[in-house]
Amino acid sequence: MRQPVVMGNWKLNGSKEMVKDLIEGLKNELNGVEGVDVAIAPPVMYLAQAEALLADSNIILGAQNVDVNAQGAFTGDISPAMLKEFGASHIIIGHSERREYHNESDEFVAKKFGFLKESGLTPVFCIGESEAQNEAGETEAVCARQVDAVINALGVEALEGAIIAYEPIWAIGTGKAATAEDAQRIHATIRAHIAEKNADVAAKVVIQYGGSVKPENAASYFAQPDIDGALVGGASLDAASFAAIAKAAAEAKKA
Ligand code: PEP
Repeated sequence: MRQPVVMGNWKLNGSKEMVKDLIEGLKNELNGVEGVDVAIAPPVMYLAQAEALLADSNIILGAQNVDVNAQGAFTGDISPAMLKEFGASHIIIGHSERREYHNESDEFVAKKFGFLKESGLTPVFCIGESEAQNEAGETEAVCARQVDAVINALGVEALEGAIIAYEPIWAIGTGKAATAEDAQRIHATIRAHIAEKNADVAAKVVIQYGGSVKPENAASYFAQPDIDGALVGGASLDAASFAAIAKAAAEAKKA
């Protein structure tokens, strides 16, 4: 059985006050909730503050990006060891915003994936198609190509213990979420694609859905057999909303 993972991607949002309020709110809301791994990815500036606030909590600390170099003359970059030192374990890579605004290629994302694994961190590996690709019927091929970049560079076993987040780009931050049935179909296709290389890895890998997940639609995704949680942007900035999504995952996946 796969334990669902619900992760909040705070993106470029935060202040010391917001970090404190949001984390304290989450600790209250999620007290006693079991059967779901809950993670948050604040901006890297706030990792130290978040680490301290989470010291007495099961909430997992994550981050939104990592570089491919360990140290040296790479202005503005952050290494896996730095993230690890501040207690961040689940690191988002390949988010469509980084692919688009920072020109990150499939190969570059695969390199980050390998570096995280080598460092003992968990990649939260985002894939997903654009609206044009969706309309052209290319969704499955795009997802397969993005997953293959990792498999070809690192071997299918690299996906063991990693998290894949299927995020149709047209659904991110738009309020235009994929239907649960459509998301399930794509998740099943992604899992089947991995199973062609290794059925055991495919059966175990957590595949989250991401794209306008809210408390109102969360349960419909988690009722699907191949949807193992969610990567949440907007709704993760509100403690009650994010906790409601996490609770829906715990409830739906109860044995
Ligand atoms: C995201 O940025 O990963 C995301 C899914 O955002 P939202 O939930 O706001 O659509």
